[in-house]
Formats: sequence, structure tokens, C-alpha cells
Amino acid sequence: MKEELRSLEDEVPLGSGRSNSVPFYSVPLVSEGEEVLSDFQKKFFPGSTKADWDSWLWQIKNSITDAGTLSKMFDLTEDELAAMKEISLPFRITPYYASLLYGRDPEYPLRKTMIPRTSELIRSFGEAADPLSEESMSPVPNLVHRYPDRVLFLATEFCSSYCRYCTRHRVVGNKNELHRFNSKCWDESIDYIARHTEVRDVLISGGDPLTMPDAKIDYLLSRIRAIPHVEIIRLGTKVPAVLPQRITPKLLRILKKYHPLMISIHFTHPDELTPESSAACSRLADAGIPLGSQTVLLKGVNNDAKVMTELFHKLLMARVRPYYLYQCDPVIGSAHFRTSVDEGLDMIRQIRGFTSGYAVPHYVIDAPGGGGKIPLIPKYFQGEDDDYVYLKNFEGKDYKYPKHS
Ligand code: SF4
Repeated sequence: MKEELRSLEDEVPLGSGRSNSVPFYSVPLVSEGEEVLSDFQKKFFPGSTKADWDSWLWQIKNSITDAGTLSKMFDLTEDELAAMKEISLPFRITPYYASLLYGRDPEYPLRKTMIPRTSELIRSFGEAADPLSEESMSPVPNLVHRYPDRVLFLATEFCSSYCRYCTRHRVVGNKNELHRFNSKCWDESIDYIARHTEVRDVLISGGDPLTMPDAKIDYLLSRIRAIPHVEIIRLGTKVPAVLPQRITPKLLRILKKYHPLMISIHFTHPDELTPESSAACSRLADAGIPLGSQTVLLKGVNNDAKVMTELFHKLLMARVRPYYLYQCDPVIGSAHFRTSVDEGLDMIRQIRGFTSGYAVPHYVIDAPGGGGKIPLIPKYFQGEDDDYVYLKNFEGKDYKYPKHS
């Protein structure tokens, strides 16, 4: 299998430079269904077919990566145009995801998460390039060992669309000396996991691991699954939201070989739960893969209890369990996205008790400096005396619980 990986690399290198270069893809997908094209596709991709649109390879190859193409599709503001000239995190968006933004105004939440603004050029108090101190917790490049029994395996620097608030801004889309993603790096990480018998859980992230070709995903999963003490493998991805076409029958056959395997999907807004993305999640669930969502609390995007509740309800309908709600990490240039912690707590207060428990994620701060995820819970516990514990319920009413049995 190693030979297979190497021969694939010979054709196109694993880390293919700046991530706006197109990685190596080969397998064309055939679409089923009627030849019904959206106005967006007809206008901006004339001559393309439904089969093209339904192909993840076509979506990647036709992703929008420059201001010129973007400004033909959207009426860009002066601020957006200025930002496109200065950004350090590259711009990239799939045609599918761009079609969700089409015809919307600049304040449309999904647009804010993808199209740069000059606010991201400002460094604010407490911000850092590596806010979670992942580099200092990397015993080998691209492997973060922060918790006792689990590791984070960064497999690629490439994402099919770049979120403007990305915590791994320093890694994604930018090839640098510290983060080379080649088979040697993978080997070092895999050897580290094999030597550390305490590691029972491996989270593969990046970049987005599901943007890698099938053969590479298969290879990486097979190497990790071959380590006897690794009990579970998890994948972190935004692909079902930005590139649902990637969830192909072939990919599902590969993923199913490596159970227990779980997937955490990065969803930010209810409008991401389209028929296409919901169907992609259903296909993953049908493959027996438990799905959880990771949502970042973002000012102007989803910091509204109604919007957030709608997102969580739609996720459950797509068979994705809302898992984490993250306070936005203080990565450089993210201040315009960050809410106060009080606002996050208030959000949870407005959701918990008013909907199914399954729809309520853990609200956490990933502690700057590498402290790991710290859960934040509204104050339901009010105190105690010798006889009772005093509590406040979701409606703000007071109750007491007897201490003696
Ligand atoms: S998909 Fe994840 S890794 Fe990629 S840019 Fe978005 S937040 Fe960052």
C-alpha cells in the first residue's frame, strides 16, 4: 500500500504547493437524474452538464479562487475587493457553495464566512497565529498530542472552501516548511501513534481530509486501523456542507471498512442544510457512521438563538447530532467574528430546555495556550444548605432537591 501511495505521489505531489493549485484527482463520477441546471450554473459555467455539477472533481477543478472570477458572480463591495488583494489565507469556494451565496446581499451570513473582508487584516488583543498552541504540542510535524489518549492527525493543508475564521489559518492553504504533507510526514505521525500505546482515538483533520483522493484516504485509514491500540478513528470535515458531491458510493465503501469510524462535520448556518448536503449526511449515516456537528459561534452569522436552533433542528433531521458549539478561537483577524462569552452562555440558556436534549451541543472554549476544550454551562446550580440543593430551571424558576436519602 505504501508503494501505491508513492506511485500516486509521483504523479502529483501530496502537498501540491499553495492550496489554490488543484490536487490530483482522477475518477470521474457519473450523475443520475434529469438534466436540470440552475440559473447559476447556466450563467457562470456554460456548457457544463448536470453530471459535471454532481462530480466533486469538477467542483474542485472549477472552484473560484480569484477576485476577477468572483466579481463576475457577485457585486463585491469595496471592502471585499480590497480584502481580496491583501489576504494571507487564500480564497477558495466551490461552485456549489458559491451558488448558495448567489443573489444575496453582502450581509448574507454564508457570504461573510467565505468572502474576505478587510477586518480579517486586523490583529486584535489576545489573537495569535496558533491560538491553541498546537505547534508546541506536536511531537512530530502535523500531529497534535494534547489529550492523554487521543491525537489530532493533520493530513492535508487543502480545503475545498476556506472559512475566513479558520483556527488553522497558519496551516491551511499555505504550504510552509513546518507543514509539509507528504508520505514521510504521514509515516512519522503513524509511527508515533504506533509507539504510543495510550493513544486509543485518532482524529484526522487538516485542512479537510475528505478532499483527498479515495486511494489516499483508504491508505491512511488502513495504516491507522492496523495499529492494535487505536480503538476509534474520527474524521473532521466540512465537505458535506461545501462539497456534498464528494460523498460518493466509492468513498462510502472505503469508510465502511474502518469502523468504528465517526465523522464531525463543520456546519455554521441552517442554510447549509440543503437537499444536497442533507442527502450527503444521510448517505454517511446509512454507512453506519455516527455523525456529529461542530459549529463555531460567529457574530453576524449564527449568533441568534432562533437561527442556531433552526440549525440544530435541521442537523438532527439530517441525522447529525449537534455536538460542539465553539466559542470562536482568537486566531489573528477573527475579532469581527467573535461574540462575548456571555452571549454564548445566553444562547445555550435560550436553547436548553426549549428543545430536545439531542439538539443542544456542548458549548466550549478551546483554551488559548493549549488548555483543551473547557465546557461552559449557564448557572443552573444556585447553592446548597444542609438539606437542599437549590436550582434554577430553563424557565428561570427556582427549585430545590433534597440531599438526604
Ligand atoms: S474547513 Fe475547517 S480547516 Fe478548512 S478552512 Fe474551514 S475551518 Fe479551516
